Amino acid sequence: MRIGVDAGGTWLRLGAWDGRELTCFERMDAARTPAELAGAIKDYILRRGLRPDSVAVGVPGTLDETRRAVLNTPNLDLGGTSLADYLEAELSLPAALDNDVNAMLRGDIAVLRRGERGLALGLYVGTGLGGAIFLDGRPLPTKSGVCEPGHMPIPGRSDPCPCGGTGCAENYVSGRRLVAIRDEFFPGEDVGGLYARHAEHPALARFFDDTACVAAAAATLLGPDLLVLGGGALAELPREELAAAIRAKCMRPAPAETLEIAFSGGEPWLGVLGAALM
Ligand SMILES: [Zn+2]
Repeated sequence: MRIGVDAGGTWLRLGAWDGRELTCFERMDAARTPAELAGAIKDYILRRGLRPDSVAVGVPGTLDETRRAVLNTPNLDLGGTSLADYLEAELSLPAALDNDVNAMLRGDIAVLRRGERGLALGLYVGTGLGGAIFLDGRPLPTKSGVCEPGHMPIPGRSDPCPCGGTGCAENYVSGRRLVAIRDEFFPGEDVGGLYARHAEHPALARFFDDTACVAAAAATLLGPDLLVLGGGALAELPREELAAAIRAKCMRPAPAETLEIAFSGGEPWLGVLGAALM
């Protein structure tokens, strides 16, 4: 049995994977430090009476080349030490780390039963814009082990980005962008339902177009067999129209006509499953 952990910036999610199914799924407030993370996992194991053999954690940040330490986690304080070594010492269990978006795509590939072979690109539009590239079911072995479509520069745009750059894609394709549109044009309204209520508004039409543009740019660059789209900020966008808009912006005939586009089911335990399957 392996404990899968999705150590997100807002929620900490845990589950137990026995090789066949994920059980004991729980969601709690985010663990902001290595000590909080180890404490939460230890408490979960004891409370549930589990006897795991290992633990695997998806973290929202960049890992070092050994995949044992976290270089930075913008919204949490899990960096600076070898988090895997620390968890092994605290939990007396073998521990492994991966980027949380990699875990999400691994979970989606397992649930969708697509993308196990060939090149799969995952784009997840939550608060920010995350990406993952898998070849034959494994993250592409880049130095950082992550891809960052959210920080591709967009020609002609120059808004400052929290990463320190300017004009990054994430400024225009993210939940943060939806909040900014709400604040500017629809003050007092819920962000949930904003797109569904005002799809014709130029700012939201631009959001749709920017989303298709960024996805098509990434797909045209990589030529993946499968593109998986997910994340709460895309939940209200019409799927077939979005897929058609992406194809229309891709180079043809490939990847425009060859690309398979799938939508993540958005299950809250996908990142936990993906971590456990690492
Ligand atoms: Zn950026």
